[in-house]
Amino acid sequence: MRTNKHFRPTKAIIDLNAIKYNVSQLKKHIQPNVKIIAVVKANAYGHGDVEVAKAALEAGASMLAVATPEEALHVRKHLPEPEILVLGYSPTSFAEYAANENITLAVYSYDWVEEAEKICSKPLKLHIKVDTGMHRIGVTTEKQLRSLYEKIKLSDHLIFDGIFTHFATADEEEDAYFKKQVDKFEQFLKALPEKPRLVHVANTATALIKDARLQYDAVRFGISMYGLAPSEYVKGKLPYPLKPAFSLETELVAIKQIEPGESVGYGAAFTAEKPTYIGTLPIGYADGLIRKFSGQDVLIDGKRVPIVGRICMDQCMIALPTAYNIGEKVVLIGKQKDEEITIDEWAAKVGTINYEVPCIITSRVPRIYNI
Ligand SMILES: *Cc1c(COP(=O)(O)O)cnc(C)c1O
Repeated sequence: MRTNKHFRPTKAIIDLNAIKYNVSQLKKHIQPNVKIIAVVKANAYGHGDVEVAKAALEAGASMLAVATPEEALHVRKHLPEPEILVLGYSPTSFAEYAANENITLAVYSYDWVEEAEKICSKPLKLHIKVDTGMHRIGVTTEKQLRSLYEKIKLSDHLIFDGIFTHFATADEEEDAYFKKQVDKFEQFLKALPEKPRLVHVANTATALIKDARLQYDAVRFGISMYGLAPSEYVKGKLPYPLKPAFSLETELVAIKQIEPGESVGYGAAFTAEKPTYIGTLPIGYADGLIRKFSGQDVLIDGKRVPIVGRICMDQCMIALPTAYNIGEKVVLIGKQKDEEITIDEWAAKVGTINYEVPCIITSRVPRIYNI
């Protein structure tokens, strides 16, 4: 008998109502005619692209963005209707697929457009990416922009549908570099004989805390759709409270008491100083709980207890104040009783940003949706 049932109790619980709340709140806080582009790249920052996309669209988003051709095709397979924009690089070999599947592509190269024009036999919508200071992708001069624009206009199938840029420092208090990028973008716009349907520059930080005129025709809403602030600085300026959507849970699968002097795990890296209950959790670095998380607290019965010793590939151990039963629920990220362990706490523990945390929880951990 085959089954999709999950037997291992380790799972990520995704709160789609939180996603909907975060999107509908944004909608209330941006200008009335501004569209929301829900950014669901990287499997919706680890939350599940199709489910998040549906929730976001229901709550008021009108378009989706992903990073790669493969992500666009995956979302399109499940959602035939919504507009999907690929923010990153697509090879020309994808152009015909994109045209067939009504997927919009980012472009920044004259040669790319020349090649795509030869390949495409159907309309293909393009958004020109301009580089105003990220120096990642995008055209860098007004001359390049104009020749790209003219090349698209001359083509039978290619449609100049949008123009966009991306900010490097929108989430920081210091705004000199941000302002430079804004000025540069405005110069690029002036260099064009016409505006396309969609001008968009705002990521989450820009949409939430910067001048409303930077919302242009659409905002690209990523991290705060998932209930996380783009930075500590933005956290202090949020126009509405965010609801985190990602929790990570498992259950105790073994427990034993060890004596003083006895150790736990590979390398015997933790040694008990007093009689200690050691519990085992079925989650390890192959699930994204990388070894640097050793020492991180988890919640059991609403209390914080630490991960001790080295984290194994598939399991890790925690030190417990008392004996708990096998099957006792353990929360690694999320709330239990009055305690909460946030993604921000995890990020701080390993010296990274909150964006990275749900992304590194691997596909071995099933995403379970609460509605
Ligand atoms: C990822 C990404 C976004 C979303 O950024 P957030 O900070 O998560 O809102 C927007 N635009 C581009 C080009 C991106 O790559």
